[in-house]
Amino acid sequence: MDLSLTLLAAAALLVAGQFPIHDENRPQPRVVDPGPAAERPAPPPSDALVLFDGGDLAKWRTKKDGSPAKWKVAGGAMEVVAGTGDIETAQGFGDCQLHVEWATPAVVAGEGQHRGNSGVFLMGQYEVQVLDSFGNKTYPDGQAGALFGQYPPLVNASRGPGQWQVYDIVFRAPRFDGAGKLARPARVTLLHNGVLAQDNRVLTGPTAFQKRPPYAAHAAKLPIGLQDHDYPVRYRNIWIRELPDDEDALPLSQ
Ligand code: MG
Repeated sequence: MDLSLTLLAAAALLVAGQFPIHDENRPQPRVVDPGPAAERPAPPPSDALVLFDGGDLAKWRTKKDGSPAKWKVAGGAMEVVAGTGDIETAQGFGDCQLHVEWATPAVVAGEGQHRGNSGVFLMGQYEVQVLDSFGNKTYPDGQAGALFGQYPPLVNASRGPGQWQVYDIVFRAPRFDGAGKLARPARVTLLHNGVLAQDNRVLTGPTAFQKRPPYAAHAAKLPIGLQDHDYPVRYRNIWIRELPDDEDALPLSQ
């Protein structure tokens, strides 16, 4: 790792670590009304790979054992079936643009982290939190649009429970050198319902509950996961565009 990359990783830890992890008392992101949900999903762009179009879970499997995904498919959406476990794409992905639509249960139950919790796991280990954050206070680094345990969203652009919400994610996978050392940390940009929620954030490592573990070398492409956190969260219209390497884009000026 050269000096600029060392500084970048250190700076990420510093920024993410301004507040203790899951600090309930850090400022709550400002609420922004993103407007109503579209009546139906927008069609994917022509070069997108559709991961779920409402029909079946052929491109998904159960994460823990690779068996067919056991979530429910109905009404053009898939729905978490509590206890069946996280699901993941059969195919692996690295750098990508990912579009995911989701809805937390219309019937509100529980509070904080216990209201419509799920998550989109990039490479199976970097979580963009899914939660009903409409009038539901929790620690900001764990609300909807958070990079879990690392960065709260810039604003809270949540729609109400039961309404369709949209994540548009731009993800740059971490790079590791031949010795397995971090060569470039992962970066995430997120639009939540069309509103900027994460602006090219540098991840400190995998996301986790109550800890910020360091990077551990992994494959260049890994499955995208969706979390079974025991709440019947629905997903629809999931598509992805793999992105070319951006090796010319230097993370810091030299
Ligand atoms: Mg979650």
